[in-house]
Amino acid sequence: MSTITKTLCPYCGVGCGLEVVHLDKKDLVQKDTVPLVDLVKVRGDRSHPSSQGMVCVKGATIAESIDKDRLAYPMMRSSLDQDFQQVTWEVALSAICDRISKVIKTQGVDGLCMYGSGQFQTEDYYIAQKLFKGCLGTNNFDANSRLCMSSAVSGYVKSFGADGPPCCYEDLDLTDCAFIIGSNTAECHPIIFNRLRKHHKQNPHVKLIVVDPRRTQTAEVADLHLGIRPGTDIDLLNGIAYLLFEGNFQSEDFIHNHTNGYAEFRELIKNYSPDVVTSRCGISIQDLETAASYWAQSKKVLSLWSMGVNQSTEGTAKVQSIINLHLLTGQIGKAGAGPFSLTGQPNAMGGREAGGLSHLLPGYRFVTNPQHRAELENHWQLPSGNISDKIGRTAWDIIRGLESGDVGFLWIAATNPAVSFPDLERTKKALMRSPFTVYQDAYYPTETSAFAHLLLPATQWSEKTGTMTNSERRITLCESFHSPLGEARDDWQIFAEVGRRLGFSKHFNFKDSSEVYAEYAQITRDRPCDITGITHDRLSKGALQWPCPGNGRESISRVATKRLYGNLQFHTANGKANFASYHSKGLAEPSDQDYPFVLTIGRVYGHWHTMTRTGRIKKINQMHPHPFLEIHPKDAKNLNLSQGEIVEVKSRRGSARFPVLITEAIAPLVLFAPMHWGSLWADNAEANNLTHPESDPYSFQPELKACAVQVIKLGVV
Ligand code: SF4
Repeated sequence: MSTITKTLCPYCGVGCGLEVVHLDKKDLVQKDTVPLVDLVKVRGDRSHPSSQGMVCVKGATIAESIDKDRLAYPMMRSSLDQDFQQVTWEVALSAICDRISKVIKTQGVDGLCMYGSGQFQTEDYYIAQKLFKGCLGTNNFDANSRLCMSSAVSGYVKSFGADGPPCCYEDLDLTDCAFIIGSNTAECHPIIFNRLRKHHKQNPHVKLIVVDPRRTQTAEVADLHLGIRPGTDIDLLNGIAYLLFEGNFQSEDFIHNHTNGYAEFRELIKNYSPDVVTSRCGISIQDLETAASYWAQSKKVLSLWSMGVNQSTEGTAKVQSIINLHLLTGQIGKAGAGPFSLTGQPNAMGGREAGGLSHLLPGYRFVTNPQHRAELENHWQLPSGNISDKIGRTAWDIIRGLESGDVGFLWIAATNPAVSFPDLERTKKALMRSPFTVYQDAYYPTETSAFAHLLLPATQWSEKTGTMTNSERRITLCESFHSPLGEARDDWQIFAEVGRRLGFSKHFNFKDSSEVYAEYAQITRDRPCDITGITHDRLSKGALQWPCPGNGRESISRVATKRLYGNLQFHTANGKANFASYHSKGLAEPSDQDYPFVLTIGRVYGHWHTMTRTGRIKKINQMHPHPFLEIHPKDAKNLNLSQGEIVEVKSRRGSARFPVLITEAIAPLVLFAPMHWGSLWADNAEANNLTHPESDPYSFQPELKACAVQVIKLGVV
């Protein structure tokens, strides 16, 4: 008899439900010696509301990667030029606690840093916050969500007073016009795209606008593709607002009753006439007018965006400029409409809710807010003042801290910064200087393991039970159904054990992850992301969206859960949403005579991030065998390049080599390279080697998306 476990796909933020069918393999002798892929069949879960049984190649092949190249036991070395030696957990945990105590004595708690991941389950995030921000008293916890979602977080907070996408996936089936900007949804969030595309095909009145410098698979099927120049998003958004005003399509009642800052925005927009906007963006006046007319004529407009907007030195301003259009036309809080950020990672949302960035605390709280700190000190039974009021080190600040010698202990978990950080040469040099780096991951080797002193084996999907929240605020319980590989432990268990050994026994007295979740849920009471009505037990019967209050307040969730702001009450002081007035600043590093191209980066359909899993799956490697550099035929001709020829791409910070893919999908003087391949998979083809780390002043988001480069012909095919 086969049994079925329900869980979640651990790749992107779409959060597709999976069913794991356990095959009847009585004749297979030893479970531990049989690869997981031979024991289970993975398929989409038809009962999961977010994905309705759909699944892409990554989710469908997940079981193939689980047993390959795993880190099975702790390993340690005293310097980076030595080989790792296997050690016991006792030795590993003692080494961590000794080092933490020493750094606190010599450098203070500011010398401790943790860099976590949207791959964590919420329970992992929560315990890490309690350990670092609560017990140890440093806010130096940041996560790789800093590199993808922090601009969306900051934009929502500044416009609405709180984080949290207002929309849900049902809006994909109900909208009259989808406005996709900075997202190759067809490849990066394929199941969302399938759902939207089905609605688009079946309903001829539905319009699809795609804004992207590159003619992506998403743009191919759009009614209108606006191939703007990189860095001109805000010009375009303000230009659409200009035309909406000119046609008198603004919603005066909504603006008057539910917004702040309108007069200033109205003044700003006067600078964005079609002539100005189209010459900056490199599009026709007719296309700009068509975009504005689609907005104006549609009763329900849904904006979707991801890293093309977020990964920018003006990411927050871009997010708020998108939201401005919704406030101008009253397109929020109703079915089929609203601004909807798509999360990159499976639990980037859960991380935000649990306070997993260096300026946040669990329950959508802020480290700079005295009341928020006091509430958590009270919950955690810590002395008043234990939580620091200082924003902790962001991802890039950790690198600066390593360079200056101010970071004495670095703990990296479930992420691969030696591929994903900007300015990789500088990043790697900084990691080399770290006095003590703990690297906790399921796989070995990764590019980052080369920079670790201590490796800790972590359990992963299939081996640990916990929760994840997807882009539509839906929480799914991911149940374990397989014993941990080797000596691997759950991330939260490792953090809790260190906490106990450092003298905080009563704070980390949890029997299992359901107890961790129960404590965390109470901390969200009356917060925008209230989940007091959710338990592991309740989730085992089906995934739930937040807000989901319990304790007799269930009626609130019946009104507010599916879409936020249906009552048009925002989380600002006066309950009104804020218009934002931003002029476009353009690219942080525009092209020039020496570096005449703008390099953009992104994902391909089959691979995931730094390929730690997908690089080990045959079918996906056959789909995408190597990286590439898209270049326009005119530029290829000028450089005398032929299809497949290897070129060197150089920025002011580094260089990488790629085979060229000559295509009209990319505009002249713009390039595109996928961001996945690190040195383990393709020597010298690390796109992030070239990107630069200047940050968005509001979200501290480092610039990853575009930088100025030159292309050098090498004469190698
Ligand atoms: Fe997994 Fe995302 Fe593919 Fe869904 S769309 S199966 S969540 S990778």
